[in-house]
Amino acid sequence: MMKGIFPLDKFKAYETPFYYYDMQLLDETLRTVTAEAGKYAYRVHYAVKANANPRILGRIAEAGLGADCVSGGEIRAALAAGFPAERIVFAGVGKADWEIKLGLESGIACFNVESAAELEVINELAAELGKTATVALRVNPEVDAHTHAKITTGMKENKFGINLGLLGKVLDSLPALPHLRLSGLHFHIGSQITDLSAFRALAIRVNELQDRLEARGLQLESINLGGGLGIDYYHPNHLPIAAFGNYFAAFHELLQLRPGQQVHFEPGRSIVGPCGSLISKVLYVKEGEVKKFAILDAGFTDLIRPALYDAYHRIENLSSEEAEEVYDVVGPICESSDVFSRDTELNRVRRGDYFAIRSAGAYGEIMASQYNCRRLPGARFSDE
Ligand SMILES: *Cc1c(COP(=O)(O)O)cnc(C)c1O
Repeated sequence: MMKGIFPLDKFKAYETPFYYYDMQLLDETLRTVTAEAGKYAYRVHYAVKANANPRILGRIAEAGLGADCVSGGEIRAALAAGFPAERIVFAGVGKADWEIKLGLESGIACFNVESAAELEVINELAAELGKTATVALRVNPEVDAHTHAKITTGMKENKFGINLGLLGKVLDSLPALPHLRLSGLHFHIGSQITDLSAFRALAIRVNELQDRLEARGLQLESINLGGGLGIDYYHPNHLPIAAFGNYFAAFHELLQLRPGQQVHFEPGRSIVGPCGSLISKVLYVKEGEVKKFAILDAGFTDLIRPALYDAYHRIENLSSEEAEEVYDVVGPICESSDVFSRDTELNRVRRGDYFAIRSAGAYGEIMASQYNCRRLPGARFSDE
């Protein structure tokens, strides 16, 4: 039996909960992003932090994307998955010495640097290794991404990036750091951004900055616009691929590039979010006085987004066609935040039913924990 895209008979052989990845959708997404970015010769680095499952990473590397890493572990995972070092960039506010050395020794393309203090350390470590580090400065563009407070990063006095007001001082320090080569500027304003006006504001801010830098006699090789493109969590079947066409076109329309300048993007969620679902079994249906609870064998240790970001995920009962009833869908963890959704209409639920929590491919499996001494969720693929 199939319900939607899900092979329920196959699922019965698997231990729940597990992530199920629709590899056809991943491939189609990769074809779309490559084609849309290709129209303007934009380069795309996949943000590994969204999902570092080795099979997923391997498929993305095969499609020819680069990798955006935020830790030494991610650099190792990207290299192991087949991303060439010259397509790996390394961001993060707290790069440890060993991580910087790993980047230098592997020959990654660029360090996206977030503070003056970090520039000095990279310069020192590069000197020790007899290398020159290519760096881009992550600038805080003070653009409001209009997204959840826990995933907005581009506003003033964030831990991320170098504030606009300090950029001049940081640039002044570069001539004294001979083991660094400045290649460009880096921006990342937040995540799950569905209103393109935030990206338009970013493009305009980048133009202003480029004019300012040009006035100082600085020419940049590359502009990295980060990630953040949102997906449609409400309509995973009808709109399974993010609006890559409109997204790149918005930048193309507004960005005033200098000759030979490269433009980079770092999408994470929009590449892998839609292709993953968390599959879970119903342990109990608990009838309260006013509410009914569907208690799953998956909890926030498997998918933390609802508890951490108040995130919405569409939930489907794959085992039932009976009339819909209203349930709170909860997990087994001993925390009251372990709730996937409240007052949700679902086909009548019984013990043993299979549930799909949709659009969970990004910031799902990778954020799983073993709190309550739980097992980590498994991963299954549509093409295995
Ligand atoms: C998280 C992050 C991304 C990816 O963000 P998405 O919203 O998943 O596209 C890209 N670049 C940087 C620097 C990030 O921190």
